[in-house]
Amino acid sequence: MSEPAVFVSHGSPMAALEIGAYQDALAAFGQRNRPQAVVVVSAHWETGREVKVASAERQHLIYDFGGFPRQLYEVQYPAVGAPAAAQRVAELLAAAGVRVELDAERGLDHGVWVPLSLMFPQVDVPVVALPVPMLMTPSELVRVGEALRPLREEGVMILGSGGIVHNLRRLNWNRRQAPVEGWAAEFDTWFAEKLEAWDVPALARYAQDAPQAQWAVPTTEHFHPVFVTLGAAGERPQVEWIHQGFEYGTLSMRSFALR
Ligand code: ZN
Repeated sequence: MSEPAVFVSHGSPMAALEIGAYQDALAAFGQRNRPQAVVVVSAHWETGREVKVASAERQHLIYDFGGFPRQLYEVQYPAVGAPAAAQRVAELLAAAGVRVELDAERGLDHGVWVPLSLMFPQVDVPVVALPVPMLMTPSELVRVGEALRPLREEGVMILGSGGIVHNLRRLNWNRRQAPVEGWAAEFDTWFAEKLEAWDVPALARYAQDAPQAQWAVPTTEHFHPVFVTLGAAGERPQVEWIHQGFEYGTLSMRSFALR
């Protein structure tokens, strides 16, 4: 059975410690889906045009945030790497003409460990982390996903980790349950409709065509992992909504699986 292509909006790092519908949804999804390894494209690791592949056998956590409670810096997630899967990622990308490099030093940033700690709390799924190549267009990122697609038949889940609506300057940090602002809901709904219609060309043109795109995606690193997920999904996949909703008024937590 083939593993799904997944996208998770990882929200605030505090999501690792909080409880709620989002946490329950990720946990339930992880119980139903146990890949042999997971390849995570994280919004919190940026490269230019090249793709690095975290290939270490033992993974360490990176606490890449500031100003959060001490508890968050004490979270442990002693995941192992998947050197063989990392090698396979590098081969598939190189064959597709992508510049690729193994990185045996890189650990797991919170874009990786926050969702994985909720999805696979037993820490039993080996992890390969990838960055977002910031100089690639959405269409180029779709092709990266396409190159990785065969891994799904080899027991490997492809997971994009970022956010559908992510604008740190417009968060209501004091209120996790703040009412949702109209512009944020508008972009999030547009995204969901285009995904369900499987209109990948329209999604790739979001910057020109989507309502409120300049507010929802002020910088591309959180949204663009979605295109790797889309490319890994194949033709006309089934969309499974893992979770939808907002926190802090504008932060979309929309997460989904394609198979
Ligand atoms: Zn983030």
